[in-house]
Amino acid sequence: MTASQTPTTAEELRGAGLRVTAARVALLETVREGDHLDVEAIASGVRDRVGHISLQAVYEALHALTAARLVRRIEPPGSPALYEGRVGDNHHHLVCRSCGAVVDVDCAVGKAPCLTAADDHGFSIDEAEVIYWGLCPNCSTARSS
Ligand SMILES: [Zn+2]
Ligand SMILES: [Zn+2]
Repeated sequence: MTASQTPTTAEELRGAGLRVTAARVALLETVREGDHLDVEAIASGVRDRVGHISLQAVYEALHALTAARLVRRIEPPGSPALYEGRVGDNHHHLVCRSCGAVVDVDCAVGKAPCLTAADDHGFSIDEAEVIYWGLCPNCSTARSS
């Protein structure tokens, strides 16, 4: 593979040290095409691509891909775990308190400044998770009218 070629999904899995299966390829594609999907939505996307797959198998594949950092898991309190394909950039999320809509938001200032904790207590920090809570435009319009 040369630098100019975009690796295929299967190559990315292999590069991350994972065994390549049709289910994992389908899952990674589903998560990347989606927008903060929950497990049910991912399972149905995977089934559209490769046919029947158990929810247990979906959970196992998600666990493997999350551990390999090909997929990022976010867990807003009160919401099911959501998965996305945008990884490694330490972006944050806006979550609507009313309808649960989730929107990506880049770091507020420059490059991952949130990784610089006031006091790291000796930890080697590699990720900061920030969730901004509020009402999405649709829900705030609905409330004020
Ligand atoms: Zn909303
Ligand atoms: Zn996101």
